[in-house]
Amino acid sequence: MPELPEVETIVRMLIPSVEGKRIEKAELRLGRMLLDMDPGNFSSALKGQGVSRILRRGKYIVIELADCSLVIHLGMTGQLTFSPADYVENAGFVRTVTGLEKPKGVHPVDKHTHLILWLENGERVLFRDPRTFGKIFLVPGRDWPRHPRLSILGEEPLELRVKSFLKKSFPAASARPIKALLLDQSFLAGVGNIYADEALFKSGIHPQSRVRDLREPEQVRLLEAVKEVLRKGIRNNGTSFSDYRKPDGTEGSNQERLQVYGRGGEPCRSCRTILKKSLVAQRGTVHCPTCQGKKAARRHS
Ligand SMILES: [Zn+2]
Repeated sequence: MPELPEVETIVRMLIPSVEGKRIEKAELRLGRMLLDMDPGNFSSALKGQGVSRILRRGKYIVIELADCSLVIHLGMTGQLTFSPADYVENAGFVRTVTGLEKPKGVHPVDKHTHLILWLENGERVLFRDPRTFGKIFLVPGRDWPRHPRLSILGEEPLELRVKSFLKKSFPAASARPIKALLLDQSFLAGVGNIYADEALFKSGIHPQSRVRDLREPEQVRLLEAVKEVLRKGIRNNGTSFSDYRKPDGTEGSNQERLQVYGRGGEPCRSCRTILKKSLVAQRGTVHCPTCQGKKAARRHS
């Protein structure tokens, strides 16, 4: 699933090609991707509107238009790509980490392409989502921060000032596993399974540790690690484990630099212990029993 670094990469790459352009036509090809609105009204609401700003909030992409905002969540497998005026379908294929073959550049329009925004001169923004867990909705004016799906989001991790955040927002008495808290979008917006596992490894904390058992130095270490793994993800243009693509259709490179996520059964890069796969908060989780064990906790303190 695309998380903060993937969505941030998409937004940063779309800005130069899409901001300031006008939407000539919006073609919604699968009505049920759209929330709270009759699909028939969607195209007319977008037609002719200029794109003033593109930004990210948590895992949401917000496209501010002249008199409304188009909000997109990529769900599990969503891709948002930009096909330029001179786009030619690239017949070349590449093999992905999971063994599937994918087109080399921007994916041609197919049955999984659910929204096409036609800009001037034949340029297009394509929203493709094979598993259709993605969401599209319109919010009047600039009111998107007050939309029920966005108003519940917690702080942006990259803007976090750790000490004051801990005082204000850390549920110190909670009995939940720390991994569940990291995945909670009302705690920190944008962290998902990949970066939660990476941050827990980096800070030497077991994913099952109860929130209330973490002492302040561990809390600080964890939040600093969250910021660090997210920044690294952005530097590497995101993690392309399966479906995630940059707006030009190519893959990010962070998957080659992951310490634990997706590496269950392989040796830890730090201590060679075999990494353990388990289920925490109903999500597949990988950790190192040595680096994230009880002894590790004592060593760090
Ligand atoms: Zn280890």
